Amino acid sequence: MNRVINVANRLPVTVGRTISKSSGGLVSAMSHLGDSMDLRWIGWPGSHPRSDAQRQKLTERLVAEFQCEPVFMSRQEVDDFYFGYSNSLLWPILHYNTSDMRQHDTWWQAYKEINLRFRDAILRDVRPGDCVWVHDYQLMLLPALLREADINLRVGFFLHTPFPSYETFRCIPQREELLRGMLGANVVGFHTYGYMRHFRSSAIRLLAADAEINSIRQEHHVCHMGVYPIGIHIAAFEEEMDSDAFTSECQRIRETHQGKRIVLNVERLDYSKGLRGRLEAIDRFLELSSDKQKIVFVFIAVPSRGEVRAYQELREEIEALVGRINGKHSTIHNTPIQFVHDSVNFTELCASYATADVMLVTPIIDGMNLVAKEYVACRRDESGVLVLSEFAGAANELSTALIVNPYDVDGMTATLQQALDMPVEEQKSRMIPLRRIVTENNAQRGANRFLGDLSRDVEPAGGSGSTTSVGAELVDGFRGASSVACFLDYDGTLRAFERTPEAAQPTERINRILGRLSHATGVDLYLVSGRSRQNMSEWFGGLSLTLVAEHGAACRPPGSEQWQPLVETVDLSWRPQILSIIHEFSLSTPGSTVEDKHTAIVWHYRKCDPEFGAWKAQELTSMLSDLASNLPVEVQQGHAIVEVTSNQFSKGHALRHFVKDSDHDLVVCVGDDTTDEAMFKVEDPRLYSVKVGRGPTAAMRRLPNCEAVLDVLEEVAALAPEGRDG
Ligand code: UDP
Repeated sequence: MNRVINVANRLPVTVGRTISKSSGGLVSAMSHLGDSMDLRWIGWPGSHPRSDAQRQKLTERLVAEFQCEPVFMSRQEVDDFYFGYSNSLLWPILHYNTSDMRQHDTWWQAYKEINLRFRDAILRDVRPGDCVWVHDYQLMLLPALLREADINLRVGFFLHTPFPSYETFRCIPQREELLRGMLGANVVGFHTYGYMRHFRSSAIRLLAADAEINSIRQEHHVCHMGVYPIGIHIAAFEEEMDSDAFTSECQRIRETHQGKRIVLNVERLDYSKGLRGRLEAIDRFLELSSDKQKIVFVFIAVPSRGEVRAYQELREEIEALVGRINGKHSTIHNTPIQFVHDSVNFTELCASYATADVMLVTPIIDGMNLVAKEYVACRRDESGVLVLSEFAGAANELSTALIVNPYDVDGMTATLQQALDMPVEEQKSRMIPLRRIVTENNAQRGANRFLGDLSRDVEPAGGSGSTTSVGAELVDGFRGASSVACFLDYDGTLRAFERTPEAAQPTERINRILGRLSHATGVDLYLVSGRSRQNMSEWFGGLSLTLVAEHGAACRPPGSEQWQPLVETVDLSWRPQILSIIHEFSLSTPGSTVEDKHTAIVWHYRKCDPEFGAWKAQELTSMLSDLASNLPVEVQQGHAIVEVTSNQFSKGHALRHFVKDSDHDLVVCVGDDTTDEAMFKVEDPRLYSVKVGRGPTAAMRRLPNCEAVLDVLEEVAALAPEGRDG
């Protein structure tokens, strides 16, 4: 059985005079894992032992008795890392609360240092085959730190909070570092598709990430994204409800509120939980209700982050609001709101759920919200009404709850009345599907799915295996052949893309490799590009190789300054019509440009908003493809371009032109783009074709990126004896 190293800010223990296992959102969701897997925890124990000896003693006990490896922090570090950066900067932004975001110059440094400390603790403990599962917003840098240290480590990251839209996430000063940190994982998990979509969009916009629908390619690995709505540990609730303590607690609650309907609220006292709007709705409800004496609103507001100013202010505000509402609606026989600013034990919690007629869960934003699921779990008789905010992640799953908009106070007031008036048959018809979902999609299932994907999705580091084998095959091929024709594409094959085509000039390394290869005995080198003749003459005119420009429209033999057309008469009558359409598109898509290569017209959108650009490219491609059916042109989408070329020539035609009657015994072609596919598709038994990067291809082999191509070519060039001068 492989081990799972579960890494979270807090260990699932409470350290005082004794050490006990603690509960809470994350812990209750994960606690079952220990039953089915070899689970270890790494995290902060929540205490500050004074001496090294005390730290050592605590560590030994935690490891031996609780499989927990502690990461210690000083009080100052807890202030800066946890209350500061994590909870006063990240938490508010992740919950769309830009106005409560605070900054301090020591926080970011502390955040980085603690993430590094976690990395070191993991690296001390990890063994081959382990899965490292990193949890939540306090440890966003950790996946990339681990990846840097050990490229083959299997790392998952799960975000328990929402991931906000790009417009909000971009407020964070260190947004790029945080994104890069998360992208170090093999699998990044979210509660909802919406959060995953926001993460992907932020990575595309802030890092120009190479993103598929559910994965983002990184230099040496692929980061997969997935949706894993976290569930609850259902067995713990079932067991509790079988206990005598639970039965007597239910009885006590019923006696306390005899003759009254109970409307329950349970949450940490947090600004994301929507307490203000809910209290306003309750106030309005009490104003309108004729039998308010028969209803009690119980609030269990669990104290949270009292060290953070925004939470202190919230507490004052909510307590004042409760006082005002109670003052307004109380009689000598009745106080409508019973407000408890304290936590309750598990028996009290389950009994509160089981005896509540209505449960109000109305956060203005919440990653998942386990309380909603726990209420459902405790409704064994299938009665009870859950009123749930559409802004809670749980609303995606719990669709037969009464779904409310927490910003619509009147709507919530009306829904509260609807909940209290709901006949038992309807309560059951809504509760039965909820119970099925909560039972089936429990914590164990979600965690197993995440860990299953994490085990499956790991790829060999850097695709180095394929680079090595392509290198070896080419070296063998060049060694065994007396004459080789080598066709190389330029952009995206030898040279990585830049923001503008002009910026992607050949590097010294590229020139050195091309120079060496072009002088090698028995090697005919062809540089086959979509670039213009002028551009190719300017950059490569000094090299002793054949230049093929504009996707095979013209060539320039070694030593010559003259370009020759590869097709005698080209029909370019389509140009004005196509140019005017592409020009229109460039006007309506800010940042896009038109390049006129005479035999081809290219629309570039690399500098546009990436998602808008990709969307407009689809639209343009489909419009041009319709037109192309009547014109002698081909429409192709490449890397951030849409290109219309004459279909009278292609890179494939060019390759065939040069090798059809040649005595080469090996024909190598390397390219990255759709335009290179025409070379890969040439039917010739001497062909050895290599695709660079991802995507479907007709090529025989694949290399991950330009660096790998250059590495392989360098190896081949070193082997080939130099012949001609140049
Ligand atoms: N909870 C608790 N102590 C209490 C009341 C509730 O630990 O006195 C638990 C509750 O059972 C739930 C968790 O706190 O599992 C709250 O999780 P949720 O996802 O609803 O919100 P979060 O606090 O994570 O934002």
